[in-house]
Amino acid sequence: MSAEQSVILVTGGTGLIGKAIQYVIETEPAGSRFGKKPGETWIFIGQNDGDLKDAESTKKLFEKYKPTHIIHLAALVGGLFKNMKYKLTFLRENMLINDNVLHWAQVFGCKKVVSCLSTCVYPDKVEYPLTEDNIHLGLPHESNFGYAHAKRMVDVMNHAYKEEFGCNFTSAIPTNVFGPADNYDLEGAHVIPALIHKCYLAKKNGTPFVVGGTGKPLRQFIYSRDLAKLFIWELREYDSVEPVILSVGEDEEISIKDVADAIVKAMDFKGEYVWDVSKADGQFRKQASNKKLLSLIGGFEFTPFDKALQESVDWFVANYDTARTGKKTV
Ligand code: NAP
Repeated sequence: MSAEQSVILVTGGTGLIGKAIQYVIETEPAGSRFGKKPGETWIFIGQNDGDLKDAESTKKLFEKYKPTHIIHLAALVGGLFKNMKYKLTFLRENMLINDNVLHWAQVFGCKKVVSCLSTCVYPDKVEYPLTEDNIHLGLPHESNFGYAHAKRMVDVMNHAYKEEFGCNFTSAIPTNVFGPADNYDLEGAHVIPALIHKCYLAKKNGTPFVVGGTGKPLRQFIYSRDLAKLFIWELREYDSVEPVILSVGEDEEISIKDVADAIVKAMDFKGEYVWDVSKADGQFRKQASNKKLLSLIGGFEFTPFDKALQESVDWFVANYDTARTGKKTV
């Protein structure tokens, strides 16, 4: 990105990752690698600003803000159980959102779009660690095939837009993200925010902290504020259509049991803590390589998991009344 005037539109700007990008842009020193640069205007939008499933509403957002660059995060997102229940909705809504954003970005001549995929979109049966070139080499896990197919199409569209129109559209592939301002709604939340919310309620109500599954699956978790910096880097410094995995290292996989233990500690929960093994585990592991990222960015210091988790738990406890918790009595 050059120092000329630029308008960076962040779709999904009101969500977990969008808010983290806003936090980083506003708190890192101005002009620094991850801080706000001279000539930049950052705009963070959510569903209240316009429904990206709707082509006309999306067009109006482009007319209003005239973005030169886009970080496209907006999506219908959810944890394992919501993904299993609403496969068609996940497929259709995400395809509509992605098609509208990329179409109008091309029509309005945006210089760059970085869209967001996920390691959930990879084939179920694939060689580990996951790398940027094996996204399409097999069917996704059946638990999330709607979401996965819609997201994979973004990579397909990016290549087609480049070939047909010469667009500079690319994508990022984060592993599991967590941090302040997550979605803690127990019906739709990802594992860390769901467990933070459950543990909070167990402590408050004096009830057992019940964790679904066996605790054995392994995951790489990235702190949203670290991921935010990597998105800013990708927007400014990376110029290729090929996606980049944005993740902590392969050796930093941790089990769901380790996550639950860490939440118990961070929440200072002293009550009964049990496992409900009748609940599904989902995909066993999704180990992803961050070699490409590290070779391009030239080194990056990730926040240690325990510190990031403590900050996330502290944020939830301090903001319980306004956090996205769904029904608070569940
Ligand atoms: P999130 O907290 O649930 O936020 C979703 C964002 O999308 C919100 O800003 C929401 O707006 C917006 N949105 C949803 N439907 C929309 C629509 N029809 N029109 C306009 N905006 C819409 O999600 P997140 O966790 O930050 O995820 C952001 C991106 O990262 C997604 O593309 C997701 O697939 C990807 N990702 C997430 C994870 C993870 O672990 N969280 C991992 C890998 C990849 P409102 O706030 O107004 O509802």
